[in-house]
Amino acid sequence: MNPLRIIKNLALVFKKNKNCRRRALHPDDIYCIGSCGVLESTCHLLFRCAVFGSVWHRVYQWLGISFISPDSVLDHLHQFGHMAGLPCYTHSFFKVIWHVCVWTVWKEKNNKIFKDKVEDLAQLLDKVKFVSFSWLKANRLTSTFNYNDWWRHPLICMGVME
Ligand SMILES: [Zn+2]
Repeated sequence: MNPLRIIKNLALVFKKNKNCRRRALHPDDIYCIGSCGVLESTCHLLFRCAVFGSVWHRVYQWLGISFISPDSVLDHLHQFGHMAGLPCYTHSFFKVIWHVCVWTVWKEKNNKIFKDKVEDLAQLLDKVKFVSFSWLKANRLTSTFNYNDWWRHPLICMGVME
């Protein structure tokens, strides 16, 4: 699916979800579900929130990269998916990781809303590692490395020497 279409669909679902929450619950529901006191927005939830968005910092550490998060979802996808300084054959890996991370944060938000349950950042990073490996394996991009390799040395698995 086209990444721009995914982002537009995500923004629509997010807006619809926010409107539903406003009608059904409390006026404070215009604020982030992470209870960080910031008005809810897609960009805040996915990248800036101290509760949900912080999983990205763990992902950057896992990948061993420095990344300054831009202020829009589309710019974030573009910059992360085309990691500057790394060969273009790594881009498909980074795009998969990006989508898995967004998916993980989205599911975590739903767990908070519907189950009042939040996992810690280490558990979320574990999910990102596992699901990204599964998605890469399903697309036959993982034939030369196993899950343990991916867990410990993702850049080497992408073909980048450290
Ligand atoms: Zn927040």
